[in-house]
Amino acid sequence: MSDKDLKTIWLVIPCYNEEEVLSETSKQLQGIMEGLAGKGKISKESRVAFVNDGSKDTTWEIIAGLHRENPLFVGINLAHNRGHQNALFAGLMTAKEYADAVISLDADLQDDVGAIEEFVDKFLEGKDIVYGVRSTRATDTRFKRGTAHAFYKLMNMMGADTLEDHADYRLMSQRALEALSEYGEVNLFLRGIVPSIGYETDVVYYQRHERFAGESKYPLKKMLAFAVEGITSFSIKPIRLITSLGVFLFSISVLLLIYFLVVWMFGYTVAGWTTIVISVWGIGGLQLLALGVIGEYIGKTYLEVKHRPRYQIESILYRKTEKEEE
Ligand code: UDP
Ligand code: MG
Repeated sequence: MSDKDLKTIWLVIPCYNEEEVLSETSKQLQGIMEGLAGKGKISKESRVAFVNDGSKDTTWEIIAGLHRENPLFVGINLAHNRGHQNALFAGLMTAKEYADAVISLDADLQDDVGAIEEFVDKFLEGKDIVYGVRSTRATDTRFKRGTAHAFYKLMNMMGADTLEDHADYRLMSQRALEALSEYGEVNLFLRGIVPSIGYETDVVYYQRHERFAGESKYPLKKMLAFAVEGITSFSIKPIRLITSLGVFLFSISVLLLIYFLVVWMFGYTVAGWTTIVISVWGIGGLQLLALGVIGEYIGKTYLEVKHRPRYQIESILYRKTEKEEE
């Protein structure tokens, strides 16, 4: 096969304060990409693109250095820290202009890079979207495992269709990315959007490793925010639940009213001071909860209506290899 027929694959890696991991990550990815090119599976135009999500450390300097040494590495510098999902999206949208397919993965190599070849194979078989699904969670802390499972359960209960144990390690073909670019929402939750694109999909199983250096950029607070984001940007079930709850409570109060009227007619006095106090607190709490949920949606609508850009690219480091220029 001549190089012209080979598919161009880009890897997209969002990076936020990842100076500790980049040299090792880039070394391993370079090995994988050279191996795949050697086997004649991917073209020489294939690239490894690091998206710098407004890091406060030397991440961008390292990426620029990698690019200077080897055009295999592409740098995309965002003007601000916009969060993992937006950084990933910026990378995907940049990569789709060059690549036939793009694989997204984390900078800390928790996603087993050994599986990349399998992704490519599935793409060459004609799949448009390939999901990386972790086969075990043995390396996670028990807390992370528990919260992650609760997260998927809750998400599916609330009507956001997500694939269990699939994070953002996935391959998307160029046309799947074109489809993705049509989704205009500012509140991005890629795991929920991608399954709704609808092209042919497949799954690659892999072992997730521990982060080999640095610390998680997803503390519990961000994880919770991510879960709320996922649910509220995908379904209006929480609002419906509250409506049903409201109807239920109202019916109970009507029944109670009838009951007390009957009791009153028969001349008994009502002695339940505690019940009244308890119901005042109960109803008050429920009302606040309901307002909170509705407020969440109104806030979301407000953000969407403003239609602000999801990210701002400060600069892109991309150049052709000597071989491509010939
Ligand atoms: N990340 C990012 N922007 C952020 C937070 C994280 O681009 O605001 C990147 C981070 O550099 C990493 C990936 O998202 O490549 C996943 O983050 P991390 O490994 O810290 O999350 P965890 O694996 O602990 O869930
Ligand atoms: Mg990680």
